[in-house]
Amino acid sequence: METIWTPERVEALGKLWREGHSTAEIGRRLGLTKNAVVGKAHRLELDPRPSPVKLVPKPRIIPDFTGPTCSWPIGHPGEKTFHFCTAKPVGGKPYCAEHVALAYIKPRNSNAA
Ligand SMILES: [Zn+2]
Repeated sequence: METIWTPERVEALGKLWREGHSTAEIGRRLGLTKNAVVGKAHRLELDPRPSPVKLVPKPRIIPDFTGPTCSWPIGHPGEKTFHFCTAKPVGGKPYCAEHVALAYIKPRNSNAA
């Protein structure tokens, strides 16, 4: 069965496509198969579809080496993005070079007393 692409259908396809509906959903609304929608969109050279699943960068929780890891907290406890640095610590310190610099940049008040 050949799909009849009337100007109205093409317009509706473009509109639904830009609104980010899935190809299956667009097909359902236009009374077409998903394949027909995908094929037509390809021929119309519509922009690649945004992924329906938003890609959120995940905090790196698995260090790429074995042994102790930098225990510098990133973010705030309780937040979804909270994690520990996990970079390689420098000699005897609990933190990596970057965070040692931050941790020991000035004497801690608690140690001064
Ligand atoms: Zn660190």
